[in-house]
Amino acid sequence: MASHTPASLKALLNQRGFRLTPQRQTILHIFQTLPQGNHLSAEELHNILVAQGERISLSTVYRTLHVMAFMGVLRELELAEGHKHYELNSPDPHQHHHLVCVQCNRTLEFESDLIDRIGTKQAEAEGYHLLDCQLTIYIVCPDAMQQGWSHSLPRDWVCNRMMQMRPDPE
Ligand SMILES: [Zn+2]
Ligand SMILES: [Zn+2]
Repeated sequence: MASHTPASLKALLNQRGFRLTPQRQTILHIFQTLPQGNHLSAEELHNILVAQGERISLSTVYRTLHVMAFMGVLRELELAEGHKHYELNSPDPHQHHHLVCVQCNRTLEFESDLIDRIGTKQAEAEGYHLLDCQLTIYIVCPDAMQQGWSHSLPRDWVCNRMMQMRPDPE
């Protein structure tokens, strides 16, 4: 998966007239050191920042994430109902896609040439340039189904199989 080097990212931001303030650099560093396949919501990022001793309000985190997505540094994802998640953006519009368990919110990433080709074809057929193509597939894990999803499961019930089902990274 292609990603920005610190130098190429800085050049790109300067070219677009954006500045990487110390606060944005701190946030970028957190995303750069996340384990592969992790995504953060504004709340989760805010918790990490506060734990690191940063004095930053949740509303500033929301705003900064949005700006950094606009800058092309982060990729904004609609994974769970009602709130956005973020991950590092890559210069390549052909990125990975997501399977999301609606019970556990666990997220599995996958790549698909077929989906990318459809995205490119659709965009180009209309004369547009593809920037990003994301497919989110909502699933229920087998354990949740067995437990009687959705009638009897409390909202905070989480399966333990999702991590083991994670496909091998290629
Ligand atoms: Zn992802
Ligand atoms: Zn699940």
